[in-house]
Amino acid sequence: MTLVQNYSTYTEENHKVWAILFERQMKNLPGKAIPEFFEGLQLVNFKPDRIPDFAEINKRLKSLTGFEVVPAPGIVDDALFFELIANKQFPATVWIRKMEQLDYLEEPDMFHDVFGHVPLLTIPVYCEFLAKLSALALEHIDSPEIIDRLTRIYWYTIEFGLFRKPGSEARIYGAGILSSVGESKLSVSAESIKNKFSVAHILDTGYIKETFQSQYFCISSFEELLDSLPEIAKVLVALRQELEV
Ligand code: FE
Repeated sequence: MTLVQNYSTYTEENHKVWAILFERQMKNLPGKAIPEFFEGLQLVNFKPDRIPDFAEINKRLKSLTGFEVVPAPGIVDDALFFELIANKQFPATVWIRKMEQLDYLEEPDMFHDVFGHVPLLTIPVYCEFLAKLSALALEHIDSPEIIDRLTRIYWYTIEFGLFRKPGSEARIYGAGILSSVGESKLSVSAESIKNKFSVAHILDTGYIKETFQSQYFCISSFEELLDSLPEIAKVLVALRQELEV
């Protein structure tokens, strides 16, 4: 991809939008998000009132996990998306919502892509899971049915995952929740359905794109995600055989 983050073209309104969203979530997320998210924010050194510069982020990320963020034109197709991530390049949009769109967006902007995803990209085990899940997707990229199932795993972990240690309250690690004021409140409240992480259960559960999720899946460690990869691989191969009959 040839797109670049042309940093000098951001307007004062753009930076102001980042500042408002950043401040709002920094007030809202303590006690709701996992501690590793806040540690990640420190490590990548986001400034409250300036849009992050990808070049600065990448210097830090690369030395921590080998990942980098790469500017993307918007939603990229599945093949390119998984290929980039398998190569430790996380595609992120460079545009930010307008002041009058603070709470409503049709597709993810950089506040979601950068604030939601990047702090987690400082966690080695998480990154290993993400890259290997994407490599697995590439093995099945010719099959829309299988990619659809695998996307459910991505959705209920990377985008909308919750974390719950035995005997503790649920905490957020999914980027789609971390970047949403409303969903970050709902997801960890008593109102939401919180299932235990289960590959079979997730593969059987469709997801909602337009509004908040109706249920979530809780992991108890990031190792649990990494350890689930052989099972995911096996189920997808079985599904492939079923589809080919
Ligand atoms: Fe996302």
